[in-house]
Amino acid sequence: MTDMLSLDRPARPATRPAALQEMPSLIGLTREEMGKALAEVGVAERQVKMRVSQLWHWLYVRGVSDFDHMTNVSKDMRETLKRHFTIARPEVVEEQISTDGTRKWLLRFPARGAGRPVEIETVYIPEEGRGTLCISSQVGCTLTCSFCHTGTQKLVRNLTAEEILAQLLLARDRLGDFPDRDTPPGTIAPAEGRKVSNVVMMGMGEPLYNFESVKTALLIATDGDGLSLSKRRVTLSTSGIVPEIYRTGEEIGVMLAISLHAVRDDLRDMLVPINKKYPLKDLMDACRAYPGLSNARRITFEYVMLEGVNDSLEDAKELVKLLKGVPAKINLIPFNPWPGTNYQCSQWDQIEKFADFINAAGYASPIRTPRGRDILAACGQLKSESERMRKVDRMAFEAMMIANHGADD
Ligand code: SAH
Ligand code: SF4
Repeated sequence: MTDMLSLDRPARPATRPAALQEMPSLIGLTREEMGKALAEVGVAERQVKMRVSQLWHWLYVRGVSDFDHMTNVSKDMRETLKRHFTIARPEVVEEQISTDGTRKWLLRFPARGAGRPVEIETVYIPEEGRGTLCISSQVGCTLTCSFCHTGTQKLVRNLTAEEILAQLLLARDRLGDFPDRDTPPGTIAPAEGRKVSNVVMMGMGEPLYNFESVKTALLIATDGDGLSLSKRRVTLSTSGIVPEIYRTGEEIGVMLAISLHAVRDDLRDMLVPINKKYPLKDLMDACRAYPGLSNARRITFEYVMLEGVNDSLEDAKELVKLLKGVPAKINLIPFNPWPGTNYQCSQWDQIEKFADFINAAGYASPIRTPRGRDILAACGQLKSESERMRKVDRMAFEAMMIANHGADD
């Protein structure tokens, strides 16, 4: 069984040495912040704008993680930058590659202030014609959705904009998704043929409880002079933090996914307790008001299939009623069990019946096919599982792990 799994201990050329850990990073700053940071270390005011666009290009189009690779920046300037800033990647503690091509990285970020270093996981899922990166926004989660393993862990801390972006940069490094070193400066990376074509904020944490950092990171990821991801190919998943859904539409403008999971308030209060604060009516109002909503820009509703809890045809009927008038796609997610949970995944024929009903009502309702089973790459289970795996028999859990990742259009 082990030979199904390729476990790499990668070389770590760009890992940040301990002594540099306290240095501020230039990654994850807005252009304005970067300009300010440069001015503070003595870059002449008339040069700041030009330096920012140079750096922006090197960091986000070329993906360099070493100042010395910035060939059109003078040596003096590179030395100044090196003295004050870092652009190194986080440490890759582990990289796993599934037999189906799914990859999972365990990344370590340095301590912030008095805290300890933290580890998070990022998952890459290659599919026909696209590749999706699943990014984390927090270490742990403040919310306590009863079917989610992350929900059993306390929030350790929010990730910074740098750490959110670093997941994308690191994945593109490892997948060879940045142009070669000898490509002439100024070259724009082609949008076609990229390994990471889509990003989903569906890793650990509730992105809308880390709004500012998520916003900054996603605006940088979709900046046309940098990483250039299309906003239509970036999806933010939320358990339903209503005020920030409005802000997401206005200030970020990426695609929206809602972790719905129940169609009645009494049941949703139990499964997704934030529903007590933001009940279904308010949530659906926020969805209807989401800017640019159309058939081409549908909202994805995630619905985890829990046996005997939310999987009856009556639920399917109410779901169709609830979504009336909202351009929507419904992702049916087979429940991923974890040690200690009381829930079970619905029977396969029940999931199919449920899907057929909502299909017949005119909604696309893909059932998430298992991906990366052998490397435990499932939503809602990241990091906590791999910690466990180091302690107990890694393979003993394999049979029960079903990945539910998948990209949107
Ligand atoms: N916190 C955000 C995003 C991360 S979770 C949110 O809740 O939307 C990504 C998706 O995985 C969510 O729809 C979540 O409800 C689902 N999920 C969590 N635990 C799961 C499990 N054990 N099995 C199946 N899906 C799960
Ligand atoms: Fe947090 Fe999302 Fe898990 Fe709920 S489903 S506990 S919001 S990570």
